[in-house]
Amino acid sequence: MRYCKNCGLLAPFDTDHCPQCGAPLPPESPAPDSARPEKTPRYEAEPRETVPALSEWATLGTLLLFSIPVVGFILSLAWSFFGSHPARQRLAQAWLIRTMIVLVVVALVCLWLGLNSVLSLSAPHYYYAF
Ligand SMILES: [Zn+2]
Repeated sequence: MRYCKNCGLLAPFDTDHCPQCGAPLPPESPAPDSARPEKTPRYEAEPRETVPALSEWATLGTLLLFSIPVVGFILSLAWSFFGSHPARQRLAQAWLIRTMIVLVVVALVCLWLGLNSVLSLSAPHYYYAF
């Protein structure tokens, strides 16, 4: 649709002259979408959740506490779910993951060693030794 420059009537596309006042209508303007400068989509990263850092000594102390064999495991478990400080909570979660990996590795090594000892016990050379 175009507006008549003379009377301001909104004129349909298919006419060259204004149906109201007869004035020639201006040439059709390009579609508003193409006239507009192309707006480049901006992909903005989601605002990252910022966690206030734990002080160096607090981090060191937390890690030392986690290093205590049984108490450390319970502490890391407790703090990873009910962290008093968000940074400490993340530290506890990281420590818990590390603990899980260590436990799996230790379990696998124990299993492998145990299997080996069982195999060596049942192996023929065991009987030949006696
Ligand atoms: Zn007109």
